[in-house]
Amino acid sequence: MTPAALPSLPLAAQPLTPGLYIVATPIGNLGDITLRALAVLRGAALVACEDTRVTGRLLNHFGIKARLQRLDDHAPAEVRARVIDEARGAPVALASDAGTPLVSDPGFRLVREARAAGVPVIAVPGPCAAIAALTIAGLPSDRFLFAGFLPPRDGARRAVLEELSGVAASLVFYETAPRLLKSLQAIAALWPGREVAVARELTKLHEECRSGSAAALAEHYAAHPPRGEIVLIVGPPAAQEAPAPGAHADSAPDTDALLRAALAHAGPGKAAGKVARATGLDRAALYARALELKGE
Ligand code: SAM
Repeated sequence: MTPAALPSLPLAAQPLTPGLYIVATPIGNLGDITLRALAVLRGAALVACEDTRVTGRLLNHFGIKARLQRLDDHAPAEVRARVIDEARGAPVALASDAGTPLVSDPGFRLVREARAAGVPVIAVPGPCAAIAALTIAGLPSDRFLFAGFLPPRDGARRAVLEELSGVAASLVFYETAPRLLKSLQAIAALWPGREVAVARELTKLHEECRSGSAAALAEHYAAHPPRGEIVLIVGPPAAQEAPAPGAHADSAPDTDALLRAALAHAGPGKAAGKVARATGLDRAALYARALELKGE
């Protein structure tokens, strides 16, 4: 949608009251900006943002001129204090690079301190990748736990997953393309019976949402390395009662799929070692199976 095509609502003409406005912005498709987000960004005395170049480009696209202030979670306390002080007497917006501020994005400290200082904090909701993914994944959405990014290191990743094992809810993670395969392998080793969804490039040209067992998805993404931005959702433990397509009915790890995924990047020895570490299964037996699979 172009700015010219936007209907002019009385809303846009209303003066904004002072306060800190937390403004969600598109996660890919600029048509997802809300009318209220545009009105607030247009009317704000100051727009605090993660990266002034990124937000500057967005504002430019919509023909909005604004005073920008860089403010990420590393910003000194004085910068936050100045922004909060300004929000006492004028509308101040906070935006992140994409989506909803504070959701794996900066803003928590600013909001907490603004509230403590008695400055009104006003939500201007809109796009959020976690919620968008949940709405299309076909996994239980009545209870979900947003867990942000998984740690990049194997041990730490596994520890976080183990900690979440007993949570009776869908688990929503943000993920990066280079790390997706390792996360899927770790999930396959720990929860072979759960259904998993990978939502990629939401609202963009190459949007896709693929679901199945973690092992089957690992096999797919080993053969087709993913690109772009990713949300990973793991169904709740109850899904183990009805094994997902591709998972073994006895809930044993789908070791063949894990080995195939590992073999896409390594020889039988390394692949067996990797799967042994992820599953705790016997390395020698895995090595023998890896040789068989390699020869198929
Ligand atoms: N605050 C943002 C939100 O509300 O979704 C998230 C910011 S976080 C720094 C960026 C991560 O969000 C990406 O690494 C990816 O996991 C997810 N993400 C953002 N845009 C996405 C998209 N269009 N499709 C899939 N995932 C996306």
